[in-house]
Amino acid sequence: MPKVIDLGERSSKLRGVHLIIGEGLCSNIYVIGVEEAVLIDAGVGNRLNPIWPQLEEIGVEPRGLRGVVLTHAHHDHVGGVFLILERADPEVYMHRFDAGYVATYIKGLRTVEDGDVIETPLWPLKVIWTPGHTRGSICLYVEDEAILFSGDTVFPWGYYGRYDGETGSYSDIVESLRRLKELEVELLLPGHGGPIYRDAHRHIELAYRNVVSKP
Ligand SMILES: [Zn+2]
Repeated sequence: MPKVIDLGERSSKLRGVHLIIGEGLCSNIYVIGVEEAVLIDAGVGNRLNPIWPQLEEIGVEPRGLRGVVLTHAHHDHVGGVFLILERADPEVYMHRFDAGYVATYIKGLRTVEDGDVIETPLWPLKVIWTPGHTRGSICLYVEDEAILFSGDTVFPWGYYGRYDGETGSYSDIVESLRRLKELEVELLLPGHGGPIYRDAHRHIELAYRNVVSKP
């Protein structure tokens, strides 16, 4: 079964944020708030990753699920949206360059651009367009708290997303990492693997050094 972690127990800056760690090839799902919850990514949404039991464990009810922000259009991040839409009616957000892959399946999908702001019960999320892993990949930045939800663009310990997929690009991911390393980032919440709770900018700087030195 997927595990639920209360991230508020790991960092006071993350009080009210839960992480659902999926089974198998499945993205992390971050649940921001409880009563008016906003999700970042939705996981793969298969039999092993049913989502609703985990949301129930956190206390999120279908009518209280307000938004789902998708960092990019890969099925291990997006598939769970269809399970969510069976019971709830949240706004679903994605960058327009990736939205074409799912727009026919998700009614009323809202496209976002670099610099847009998505409200959550805890803090606003600023959209940072970070192409490279896919053309429409985004990160979500909480400027006041120096928190970055990084999807598959950058991971801890100097790793970064693959850029050899259909709409991936080496030059784009270099530019995206260059941009991210200029941000003040204390906490890094990646699309796979465990979060980093302090000095996360060092991890992003290392990813940038790695990507420019070995394409
Ligand atoms: Zn991906």
